[in-house]
Amino acid sequence: MINKKILVTGASIAGPTLAYWLNKYGFKVTVVERAPELRLGGQNIDVKGPAAEIARKMGIEKAIREKNTTEVGLRFVNVNNETVAEFPVGNSLSMTQELEILRGDLVQILYDQTKDDVDYRFNQYITAMVQSKENVAVTFSNGNAETFDLVIAAEGIGSATRQLAFKDKPDFKYLGLYTAYLTISKSAKDSRWARWCNAEKGIVFMMRPDNYGETRASVTFTAEEDRYKGLSLDQQKKALVKRIKGSGWESERLIREIRKTNDLYFERVSQVKAAKWSEGRVAIVGDAAYCATPIAGKGTDMAMSGAYILAGELFKADNYEEAFKAYEQKMRPYVEKCQKLPPGIPGIVYPQTKLGVRVLNTMVSIVGSKPAKWVTGLFGKEKKEPKPEIILPDYGNRK
Ligand SMILES: Cc1cc2nc3c(=O)[nH]c(=O)nc-3n(C[C@H](O)[C@H](O)[C@H](O)COP(=O)(O)OP(=O)(O)OC[C@H]3O[C@@H](n4cnc5c(N)ncnc54)[C@H](O)[C@@H]3O)c2cc1C
Repeated sequence: MINKKILVTGASIAGPTLAYWLNKYGFKVTVVERAPELRLGGQNIDVKGPAAEIARKMGIEKAIREKNTTEVGLRFVNVNNETVAEFPVGNSLSMTQELEILRGDLVQILYDQTKDDVDYRFNQYITAMVQSKENVAVTFSNGNAETFDLVIAAEGIGSATRQLAFKDKPDFKYLGLYTAYLTISKSAKDSRWARWCNAEKGIVFMMRPDNYGETRASVTFTAEEDRYKGLSLDQQKKALVKRIKGSGWESERLIREIRKTNDLYFERVSQVKAAKWSEGRVAIVGDAAYCATPIAGKGTDMAMSGAYILAGELFKADNYEEAFKAYEQKMRPYVEKCQKLPPGIPGIVYPQTKLGVRVLNTMVSIVGSKPAKWVTGLFGKEKKEPKPEIILPDYGNRK
């Protein structure tokens, strides 16, 4: 297939990666993003495995290296801020990887790499969609109407376009946790080490350095599934403060920062398991189709691989049905592997009691021992991968 007009929704990781490859193969690409501008929040992510290979193919590896967060490794600390164990960047158990970058920096690099060739439209989303034999008639939030050959939703876990196109909701496998990300001012206690601290009542705090002289904080905690559904930013902030008040470590510092921030990402930790990834002329990619959660540490790998394979299959195939089928066949086994999480979440890794926290810290402190390997393995980021987890086909170039 070539020369088709494709609408991509969502300008984060999956959307711009897909737009890059579609444009390279000769498709006419429009990307709409619901937010008024790129959403650049979030913490460190690593570009490894298939994501690193795709970044190389896209010519953005150097740009990614230049934005390295400079994090030197991960320290587990107790609530008194005493180090329990540390895993430097070269260590196979470290969470810090070679190509470590802030999520927002990667989003910006992907956007910069595509913005001259792709029609980006911000502050827009689809409000209605009618599929016919020939095309998809789309109505946008600004009232404009336009037809496209195909629509691909890269809208993340709560995708509304997925809802418009698919009759059934995907399965959401709730992991019993909520997570919040925010950027905070650097303090004297922050260094180039990431710090992880377990507190009672199922709370994990994390503070990581960035390359802008600030600190990226997150707090993840156990909660019932719909406990914080549909809250405004102000309500989210109040709920978060209430949940972490009195937890010790740097919770008071974090509370002061939560009260000030306008940049809070607050989300349930759920995996998305969609039974199918296309419905007629509409397909889904990235977290919208197969979110594995930040706990799996595979979000970037899957979003970029899915986008690369979907674009390549559309280029290679004679029609979109064939392409969507091949995309699913090639990606599903990998997604299933990535979504397999080791047992212990949230029960053991997010202990409720002081004793539970002590036990976990003891396990982590036995560096290199099997329990420590098990706990750090929960991030899915062990470096030694004997063979590639997914083979990325070479789709060639447009003639
Ligand atoms: C602000 C933010 C911060 C994040 N921080 C982290 C982090 O620190 N660590 C981590 O592991 N993961 C984080 N994530 C999730 C991570 O980006 C994804 O897990 C992964 O990279 C897959 O990306 P994606 O492009 O599929 O989806 P997402 O990154 O979720 O992006 C979806 C994009 O679609 C847009 N969108 C949503 N609905 C519509 C619509 N109807 N029409 C048009 N556009 C729409 C969103 O505004 C967003 O830009 C964050 C996501 C966001 C949006």
